[in-house]
Amino acid sequence: MNLNNFESKSAQEILQWTISTYGKKAGLASSFGMEDMILIDLLSKLEGEVTIFTLDTGRLHEETYEVMERARSKYGITITAYFPDKTGIEILQKSKGFFSFRESIENRKECCTIRKIDPLNRALSRLDAWITGLRRDQGLTRVDVKKVAEDENHNTMIKINPLADWSLAMVEEYIKTNDVPVNALHKKNYPSIGCAPCTRSVDKGEDIRSGRWWWENAEHKECGLHPKN
Ligand code: SF4
Repeated sequence: MNLNNFESKSAQEILQWTISTYGKKAGLASSFGMEDMILIDLLSKLEGEVTIFTLDTGRLHEETYEVMERARSKYGITITAYFPDKTGIEILQKSKGFFSFRESIENRKECCTIRKIDPLNRALSRLDAWITGLRRDQGLTRVDVKKVAEDENHNTMIKINPLADWSLAMVEEYIKTNDVPVNALHKKNYPSIGCAPCTRSVDKGEDIRSGRWWWENAEHKECGLHPKN
């Protein structure tokens, strides 16, 4: 299978191929941002199912839980939430406090590892392929994203990014036309939403991921969920 052939395929074609090839052994890693909501909407219009999971870091916005619940009820989906290891969190907060991630990149990555990466690895260990809402124009760290690729960071499982070539305008148009529920924070100028203490609103013209870990340089703005292969 030449994975480069997927570059000319539409998001719907890629998702239908994913369902046919992997079924529930493919998992959509959803943080319930606009792109993930589009993927859920597209999947709901296709035959068959994949697994849908989220990483509940314990530091999410209330609005994120609300949109998860709206997605559950509108699409009738089952969402599996993976939580951080409680001992890891207890040790981290006891030794470094509740906002250690603001003190250094090392501390921030430590928190992201416990709250996101370890739970992600647990989720992926049950799957053969994973689907994300990554888009190439989301910032410096994502310009090389392929629609379908081997994920060398996760045991060469297959990573599927059906919206890799979508622009923000396409995302907004799809949501409007298809009446897709979205996180209420998007209307308050939060284009990219992660954990509450590490996300802020952005000003007009600012990079769409500039509100994530805003105290760091752009090249560090990944939590480790999507390192470059
Ligand atoms: S985004 Fe912030 S709060 Fe969330 S896991 Fe990473 S450092 Fe911790």
